[in-house]
Amino acid sequence: MRPTLVTVFAHPDDETFGVGGSMAAAVDAGARVVTICATRGEVGEIADPSLATAETLGSVREAELRAACAELGVHDVRFLGYRDSGMEGTPENADPRAFANASDAEVIERIALQFRELRPDVVVTFEPGGVYGHPDHKKISRCATAAFDAVGGKRLFYSGPSRSWFAAFIADLKAAGLEGFPFEGAESFGVPDEDITTTVEIGAQLARKKRALAAHRTQINPWLASLKDEWLDRILSRESFGLVRGERVPGTERGLLEGLAG
Ligand SMILES: [Zn+2]
Repeated sequence: MRPTLVTVFAHPDDETFGVGGSMAAAVDAGARVVTICATRGEVGEIADPSLATAETLGSVREAELRAACAELGVHDVRFLGYRDSGMEGTPENADPRAFANASDAEVIERIALQFRELRPDVVVTFEPGGVYGHPDHKKISRCATAAFDAVGGKRLFYSGPSRSWFAAFIADLKAAGLEGFPFEGAESFGVPDEDITTTVEIGAQLARKKRALAAHRTQINPWLASLKDEWLDRILSRESFGLVRGERVPGTERGLLEGLAG
């Protein structure tokens, strides 16, 4: 039986940054790979006004996610049907359809329904802090974990960069004079180093991961668009995970599916 990898995230593009290379590697290894997205990213950026309006952004980003996943070799893309809640303290939080306003119990049940059908061996979601604290990221992490615990599976991984590695990246960006990183407090983003169990160096899949990122066209803001390949390659070529359910066996330090009995 070929293994099944299911990734569970909040917005289109979350999957590509954190786990896109590993998704492509899993496809290369013959696994079935499915991605589940809680929202259509309705309140994200619109990098170029010719691409979308506030009204069309959700459907545009759905198409972008499908195109990005197709670059990674993933053709089963599922949505939980919630609306992007936006950042904390913004008016979008109050929208009754916002993911933030759904009860955890309902979200857990929707994810569990998918898991019962898909029977994933390996699940990947955000680390509990959502990398940079977006409320939708924290919620999908919490709810996917509870759904995994309810349905079962072989492994659950949390995705997020190691804090020291990410801080070094930011420090080097600043030292190179590339100010303007669009997040405050980026030095503290990510996962404490001791919680990282698995580090994947993306080699053969990097080009596909970059094409997947490029497919999220509305999200390529001017800062990201200006980033030279050497920086982009550095940030995209490492994916870090913490194994939080399942056994650490030889191989799990270097890949999501390593050491799984076929
Ligand atoms: Zn997101």
